[in-house]
Amino acid sequence: MRTLIDIVEMQSMADGLRKQGNRIGFVPTMGFFHEGHLSLMRKAKELSDVVVVSLFVNPAQFGPGEDFEEYPRDEERDSMLAMKNGCDVLFVPGVEGMYPKGYATYVQVNDLSTVLCGASRPGHFQGVTTVVTKLFNIVKPHVAIFGQKDAQQAIIIRRIAEDLNYGVDIVIAPIVRESDGLAMSSRNMYLNRKERAEAVVLHQSLLEAEKLIAAGERRAHVIREAMKSLITAKDSARIDYVSILDADTLQPLDLLQGRILIALAVRFGKARLIDNTIMTC
Ligand code: AMP
Repeated sequence: MRTLIDIVEMQSMADGLRKQGNRIGFVPTMGFFHEGHLSLMRKAKELSDVVVVSLFVNPAQFGPGEDFEEYPRDEERDSMLAMKNGCDVLFVPGVEGMYPKGYATYVQVNDLSTVLCGASRPGHFQGVTTVVTKLFNIVKPHVAIFGQKDAQQAIIIRRIAEDLNYGVDIVIAPIVRESDGLAMSSRNMYLNRKERAEAVVLHQSLLEAEKLIAAGERRAHVIREAMKSLITAKDSARIDYVSILDADTLQPLDLLQGRILIALAVRFGKARLIDNTIMTC
């Protein structure tokens, strides 16, 4: 595995790989790897000849007062895990390289970016779509793998890839969970023992929703209320949102029909955790 820091070097390596007929698979990450990230790398290996993983804690997607400074980082451990899970090139650009003095260009996806996490974190998705655009121009992948864990991000990335003719196949891989159901996240390390135990309610509330839907319930407010009452029963939980939407347009639904996304964001202490499920009704 090679580690590159320099943007121009990464670009010329990508050009060379393409010229030799290699298919480049790409996994963008902010590091502090867990099994969720590693599953994306292994998927990329299946789908391509050369796997590039980027490790960049992107300041543009953190708002003022968010956890950019405290976000967990461990490049040495990440490097070892990436190597063992199929990564051929680890790309670790610096903030000054990605956003030099005078940087002024941002990519904005309308509508999809202003609901759910976009409503609670203004500017977050502009930061995501901007960095993904830059990384695609640097890594020049044929296929890029994202996690279903960040469902809204996945939908938005599909949208820009199509709208801006990126020519990159976007693959969405399933959510990897801890054995008790908590979705793996780099931010789980912020949880204290009590919060960690209570955070399992996120997955439990999604399972409850699935159960109600399987029993024939189609009224979104009934399902949302059932989920909310499970979550608010936990001392440390503070709901940001519990939403039921069309899985393609992110329009909120009153009555469930078609492919639906049930998404939630809940704070436990200083950790803001998200989870979701997609179902067809
Ligand atoms: P992050 O480092 O948190 O920006 O995540 C990098 C990629 O890993 C994104 O595409 C995430 O959706 C994905 N990811 C994060 N957590 C999980 C998980 N538990 N299961 C599957 N994919 C995940």
